[in-house]
Amino acid sequence: MTAPGGAPAASGTDAASRRLAPRDDVALMDGYHSPQVDVAVRLNTNEAPEPPPAAFVEAVTRAVGDIEWHRYPDRAASGLRRRLADLHGVRPEQVFVANGSNEVLQVLLLTYGGPGRTAAVFEPTYALHSHIARLTGTRVATGERDADHAVDPAEVERVLAEARPEVTFLCSPNNPTGGVESAASVSATLGLAPGLVVVDEAYSQFAPWSAMDLVDEDVPLVVTRTFSKTWSMAAARLGYLVGPSWVVAELDKVVLPYHLDAFKQIAGTLALDHVDEMERRASHLVEERGRIEAGLGELPCRVWPSQANFVLFRPESVAGADVWRALLDRGVLVRDCSSWPRLDGCLRVTVGTPAENDRFLAALTEVLA
Ligand code: PMP
Repeated sequence: MTAPGGAPAASGTDAASRRLAPRDDVALMDGYHSPQVDVAVRLNTNEAPEPPPAAFVEAVTRAVGDIEWHRYPDRAASGLRRRLADLHGVRPEQVFVANGSNEVLQVLLLTYGGPGRTAAVFEPTYALHSHIARLTGTRVATGERDADHAVDPAEVERVLAEARPEVTFLCSPNNPTGGVESAASVSATLGLAPGLVVVDEAYSQFAPWSAMDLVDEDVPLVVTRTFSKTWSMAAARLGYLVGPSWVVAELDKVVLPYHLDAFKQIAGTLALDHVDEMERRASHLVEERGRIEAGLGELPCRVWPSQANFVLFRPESVAGADVWRALLDRGVLVRDCSSWPRLDGCLRVTVGTPAENDRFLAALTEVLA
């Protein structure tokens, strides 16, 4: 390296020594890993198996021509918020929209978590709840689910009494285990939680019950949703929450200005013209989920009943990681949870198209034979 004027750089300014170390806690962290492998049957990230309806893609393509590309987008995403509010029977002030529900969770934790504050999670659950909490400097209080992966009321009481968390996460249906949280469980948690209760409902369209019914201006509950699953829009990165307007007002202060681009606001709004088609698709996936559960039930596997678009299972006689590899060799990619804490030997399969599900079941039958 040469200094300005062409003189050799002083020692200590070589490239390696100029690499600034990150914050100590970040240096100790692992990133979030979800391998993207190019394979015929991809059943590892709980995406929708089909692209959105052609009419939606055509409408978006037409609308792109009307975007004022040289102008910042509508900062409040008012049109999209209004449509989401209508969908859920709330006021637009009760809706917050961001780049995927992960960003919704991040803004929640930037606002209500942080140094000196605590978030409670019940493991095993969606890894990003604790990961984003730690990234925002929030302490994580961990409760344990029972052997069936259900949230145990006594454990909720214990954790909330000991940790007094500002934010308590529930995930319904829970990723990666698939079970839905009952109305009684959410209400009991709300009764005990000293702060905000966040119910992550990324998979709610596949489940019989939603905590959305409990949202009220006077209740410290927010429900998060995503366009990535039912709406077949994982590529667009769009998610939202519904909650009291006093929460949304605080989140609006924290999120970056103009965080939601014009294209995404249009895509999300136009997607909401296809609610019936999306509900029809969700019910097909629920039927296919039943077929996968039945197929797994005939194999030497433990299967956890699911109310999401994925199923968690544990092969009995072969190590989970070996089954994962053998499925990949047969062109089928599932999620390898076998080394995750509390999920020893487990794999998670996303419900795909009927043909993909057939391929998965045939490959697994062969592997476990
Ligand atoms: N919550 C849960 C429980 C999830 O499984 C996911 C996606 N894997 C998300 C939130 C994030 O979804 P997105 O950011 O795509 O909206």
